Amino acid sequence: MEVFTSVKSLRIFLDQQLSHQKTIGLIPTMGALHEGHISLIDASVKENDITVCSIFVNPVQFNNPEDLLKYPRTLEADCQMLEKAGCDAVFAPSVEEMYPEPPLLTMNFGALENVMEGASRPGHFNGVGIVVSRLFNIARPHHAYFGQKDLQQVSVIKRLITDLAFDLKLVVCPTVRETDGLAMSSRNRRLNDEERNTAPYIYQILSAAKEELLRGRDIWEVTAAAQGRFAAIGSFTLDYLEVVDIKTLQPIQELGPEGSNAICVATFLGPVRLIDNLIF
Ligand code: AMP
Repeated sequence: MEVFTSVKSLRIFLDQQLSHQKTIGLIPTMGALHEGHISLIDASVKENDITVCSIFVNPVQFNNPEDLLKYPRTLEADCQMLEKAGCDAVFAPSVEEMYPEPPLLTMNFGALENVMEGASRPGHFNGVGIVVSRLFNIARPHHAYFGQKDLQQVSVIKRLITDLAFDLKLVVCPTVRETDGLAMSSRNRRLNDEERNTAPYIYQILSAAKEELLRGRDIWEVTAAAQGRFAAIGSFTLDYLEVVDIKTLQPIQELGPEGSNAICVATFLGPVRLIDNLIF
């Protein structure tokens, strides 16, 4: 496995691969890798000749300086996991390498970003759109892999690919969970023991709410009950809990066909903000 820190060296490597008609899979990440990320690498290794994982904590997508500062950075351990998983190349640029100049361009995904993460983290999807576009242009992948855990991000990137005519296929991979149901996340490392023991309630509350919805209970009632359950567990500070249409991401009053609904949550647990969702 090769580790590249400059755009130029990665491009030279990938030019060679492309000249030999190799297919390229790209997995954009912010590092502090876990089995969730590795499931994306596994999918790419199966489908492509060359798998490239980018590791870049993108300042443009953080609107909270403390979150950016405290974001875990574990490049050496990440590289070991990637090598073991059969990844061919890591792209780990510095901020100056990724942004020789602060981008002037801004991106706005309209209705897709006026809800949930976009509403709570103004400018977040501008940063995501810019960094992912740069990575697509640098790596020129045939396939790009993203996790369902970041449901809104998937919708935004689908739209980015359509709007800018990126010639690649987006592959969405299911959320990988700990055995107690907690969605794997780089931010889980920042939880103390007590918070870590409380964190699985997120999945439990979402799952129970989903079951009630499938039994036909009113969306408003179920949402209010789930919000109440979060409030009853003192250490959660709920940001949002919504039942949405997975295409539009807008809140719904009635369930659509199977597979078109999602229950989405963002909550602080102590100082750490966690998100999760279930599609049904
Ligand atoms: P991040 O490093 O958090 O930006 O995530 C990089 C990619 O990994 C994104 O496409 C995420 O959606 C995906 N990802 C993060 N956590 C998980 C998980 N638990 N299961 C599957 N994919 C994940």
